[in-house]
Amino acid sequence: MILSRHPEVDCRDCGERLYVGLSPEPSCWKVHYVCRLPDGCGRERRGGRIAVSAVDSRDEARRLAERRLSAER
Ligand SMILES: [Zn+2]
Repeated sequence: MILSRHPEVDCRDCGERLYVGLSPEPSCWKVHYVCRLPDGCGRERRGGRIAVSAVDSRDEARRLAERRLSAER
C-alpha cells in the first residue's frame, strides 16, 4: 500500500494528521485512511474504491481520495 500524508484532515481520535493509502487491485484503487503509528493511534478504515478507468494516474486517485475525506469533515 502506498501512503501519503493528507494535506488537511486530522484523526478524530488522536489529532494526528491522517494518511491516504492506495492499494492496487486489478481494476481499481482500494482506498484506506490511516492514522500511522507510532505518532498516531494506528486506526485505519476503508475509504471505498476508485475505478482505474475514472482517473488518469495514481496521483489523481490520491487527490480524489483526499477530497473524499475532506468532504466528510
Ligand atoms: Zn489517530
